[in-house]
Amino acid sequence: MMSPITIVLFAFVTMLFACQEPTKTSEQVPSSIAKIDTLPAVFGDTLPIDRSSGYLTGHFMPDTSSLFTNVDISYADREGMYLRKDTYRAFQKMATAAARDSVKLVIRSATRNFDYQKGIWERKWNGETKLSGNISADTIPDKKQRALAILRYSSMPGTSRHHWGTDIDLNAFNNAYFDEGEGLRVYQWLLRHAADYGFCQPYTEKGPHRPSGYEEEKWHWSYLPVSHILLTEASKRLNNSMISGFKGSETAGDIDVVQNYILGVDSSCIHPGQLSN
Ligand SMILES: [Zn+2]
Repeated sequence: MMSPITIVLFAFVTMLFACQEPTKTSEQVPSSIAKIDTLPAVFGDTLPIDRSSGYLTGHFMPDTSSLFTNVDISYADREGMYLRKDTYRAFQKMATAAARDSVKLVIRSATRNFDYQKGIWERKWNGETKLSGNISADTIPDKKQRALAILRYSSMPGTSRHHWGTDIDLNAFNNAYFDEGEGLRVYQWLLRHAADYGFCQPYTEKGPHRPSGYEEEKWHWSYLPVSHILLTEASKRLNNSMISGFKGSETAGDIDVVQNYILGVDSSCIHPGQLSN
């Protein structure tokens, strides 16, 4: 015989389960994806985040992930680009505010997975795509020097922040555009307002507070509420031997791409205390 207390408890537990909402299927994410610990809620909701090394190194398909969405052509220069939904939402708010100030923000590049980045890297490695200054990387015989020349502006596959769905390239791929006229107005607007929408510029001018990594990229912006977590995960989970599967990948260890490039970002893109270990 059950005691009265057991019966009450049993009824209570049954009621609890009965009240639960049915699980949504369209937004379901794999159980390996943990709920993220977010920055203060000022930026709105962030979605779950995949902290696996596979995700961090771009081994996934953004077009089939329920965490990603297609970028509307009204915000971009072409069809077929993807972003994390939380990043896209924040970008839409930022672009709307910019438009009110007569500043047009245009996404030129968004999520690029490992295979996409491998294509970019290997075309540069082979000399098919020229580097800035019309340099053909295949004329550089030393492999480490060849990789370093490409690394001025392009990531090794597996190390790009564009793998994360949180990073975008805006308006033009050259700093000179942002130095005068319309480009200068765009950049000044971003410097003044992007942080209000959660965006930071990872590749600022190199100097004492950013001694290593890519050259300055005034066009590259990152959604900090999610990307600071991915940066921390990358610092814990990735090592140079995991950066492989493309031409020239044997140079990753010598160059220490994890330390010098993945972590070579402006302090505004590092959440305080996140990289202290
Ligand atoms: Zn970029």
